[in-house]
Amino acid sequence: MTIAANLHAIQAEITAACRRANRDPRQVRLVAVSKTKPAALIDEAHAAGQPLFGESYVQEFIDKVDAVRGAADWHFIGHLQSNKVKYLRGRVGMIHSVDRLSLAEEINRQWARLGRAVDVLVQVNLGDEDSKSGVAPDDAVDLVRALAALPHLRVRGLMCLPPFFDDAEQVRPFFRRLRELAAAIAAQRIPGVSMDELSMGMSHDFVVAIEEGATLVRIGTAIFGERA
Ligand SMILES: *Cc1c(COP(=O)(O)O)cnc(C)c1O
Repeated sequence: MTIAANLHAIQAEITAACRRANRDPRQVRLVAVSKTKPAALIDEAHAAGQPLFGESYVQEFIDKVDAVRGAADWHFIGHLQSNKVKYLRGRVGMIHSVDRLSLAEEINRQWARLGRAVDVLVQVNLGDEDSKSGVAPDDAVDLVRALAALPHLRVRGLMCLPPFFDDAEQVRPFFRRLRELAAAIAAQRIPGVSMDELSMGMSHDFVVAIEEGATLVRIGTAIFGERA
């Protein structure tokens, strides 16, 4: 399968999942996760009509971003160290992985230098997994409140990276909990905060994620093939 054919097949699955869930397919954006993939393959996906890409490693991203020919939109989706935020300044439209105030303060400082604000999502560790980043669900509201005070970032919603199960159905409760947590935070009506975006679902479970309300699905392998 070519990248164009993979993208086409995924878009068809997104549309079908939206139909089943009574959702408008325009509410779901595909983030093509291009980590470890060379600029030439990103160009190929871009030429096939894919506008938005996600990267997880700062160094790799800055090494290849200028080699990508089209004017792609970039989201940063991986674990982020504060001392690397400066390399992302002005180069990404959204950061999905904000899980602590110190990181948000550094993002705020960097985007302040541009006189702009960047969209962010709060990453939640739903599985209580030590190996994964993310704020504990019980602490998410307090973190969102603290972020709301930072003028150079806009909280747009939540992100999760749930435990892996072979059977995607087993992930459904995690996606549902993220949606419910977003609704609970939205109900607090924190000024400047919106909870419109839910970043959840990857190659093997994005259909279930969409049925549970995902607005951003992060898909790598199903587009670009296995990573080395
Ligand atoms: C790599 C990665 C993905 C994509 O995973 P696939 O299984 O290849 O679709 C999604 N989200 C995050 C945070 C990732 O690091």
